[in-house]
Amino acid sequence: MTDFTLPDRAVATSLVTRENVPYWLEREGAAAHLVIGSTDPAVVGGFTGQADGDRFRAALTPGNAAALRQALPWLTPTTFGLSLSAGFGDRLGICTPGHVAAVNAVGGTIKPVFAQQSIREMGRTNRTPLMVLDDATWGAFEGGWQGPVGADADHLKTLGDIDSCVEAGYVFFTLDPGDHVDPEAESATEAVIRQKAAALDWAALDSSLEAFIATYAGHTIELDGEPPVVLDEEAVVRAMAKYGPALVQAMTMYRHLDGKGIAYEFEMAVDETDYPTKPAEHVVIISELARLGARPVSFAPRFVGGFEKGVEYIGDLDALARDFQIHAAIARTLGPYKLSLHSGSDKYSTYPLIAEATQGVVHLKTAGTSWAEALRVIARHDPALFRDLLRLALDQFEINRHSYHLSCDPAKIPANPADDELDGLVTAIDSRQVLHVAYGPALTTLGPRLFACWSEYRDELTTIIRDHFVRHLEPFAAWAR
Ligand SMILES: [Zn+2]
Repeated sequence: MTDFTLPDRAVATSLVTRENVPYWLEREGAAAHLVIGSTDPAVVGGFTGQADGDRFRAALTPGNAAALRQALPWLTPTTFGLSLSAGFGDRLGICTPGHVAAVNAVGGTIKPVFAQQSIREMGRTNRTPLMVLDDATWGAFEGGWQGPVGADADHLKTLGDIDSCVEAGYVFFTLDPGDHVDPEAESATEAVIRQKAAALDWAALDSSLEAFIATYAGHTIELDGEPPVVLDEEAVVRAMAKYGPALVQAMTMYRHLDGKGIAYEFEMAVDETDYPTKPAEHVVIISELARLGARPVSFAPRFVGGFEKGVEYIGDLDALARDFQIHAAIARTLGPYKLSLHSGSDKYSTYPLIAEATQGVVHLKTAGTSWAEALRVIARHDPALFRDLLRLALDQFEINRHSYHLSCDPAKIPANPADDELDGLVTAIDSRQVLHVAYGPALTTLGPRLFACWSEYRDELTTIIRDHFVRHLEPFAAWAR
């Protein structure tokens, strides 16, 4: 390609050459096209589009995204095993180039999961698993990413969730049986927890309460570098009363997923539950899964303290550091598998602690912070739209907050903020959380205006997202090999 020059409307970062054929993205206003520097049917046959001189132009359709993943095979999601990885939930489908830039800025060795969205978020944003995957494909391509990518079907709760995500090509499945965790078992009397444990569907776990007690009660788990976990009978029966129904649900989901016959890895997530996961509970959950043949690549316990959306960790950092160290030691002893840190965005103080405790055997999962940061573009360039958005977010806050952990006080948000205060409202905790959970109605009601602004200031959006994520990734980069 000696006499090849990229046209002005091409996005420079996107240019990639594979088997002597260049591929790039072109943008004109809000419209974008894939351009391939060949009209050879052997190259472009899988794409739908049209020849344009010696080039081939293709729209950003699902069919062409699939063809691009064939042509540039690193864009096809793959599993990462124990490699240090990070998930970048992008509710908007336009932030991936910024995520790519951030991963590259910290050395390019952290394994990225650009496609990651929970079923809850897909519902609120009217996106399908395939749309999320395709947007990540186009974004990774646009940003010039040429390493492996993951794809996390996040917080799956039903067998139907698994079906649609397998169909779309996801390879990392976050099984979330959290709705089946029994919070009453946390402090119920011993008689009540025995009743609860006895009432479990033991057949689904291929066991019995007697066999379970014989396996665990009175045993001690020696840990590398940490005091042993002593499993007394009450602790393990309570663990089973609390997490047993969730284990039954997790195994139902696991068996369904495993029966698909695809290459995959899965995470076990109980982070969105009421009480911290105790060491004995961690041991019981993972040991029971392993006994039944289910070996997660990562485990997301509910850590101590407050992991709220979009803001710093709330709680005692020393206690959290100890919690990370103990859970990490259990994960090394029983696995190894990664510890997974959810609601991980904006928890800057926690990153060095978990990176160190796990020695890099860790997954960082962020979601929603890209949406919140993208609002800076609106705050800076369309103040009227930002005020409309803030009003909508406040009006619907009581609905939007459902199922999220938040501590914001909407009454503290200024009623008539001046233009130069708006960017600060994206940062301030009360307004940030109110905006953070407003994405559903905001995108439904104001979507066209928001996307028009992001489209106009696309490069600025990418820079904002990059800089925000560099702060997230830097503490982990040294541990990523
Ligand atoms: Zn989570």
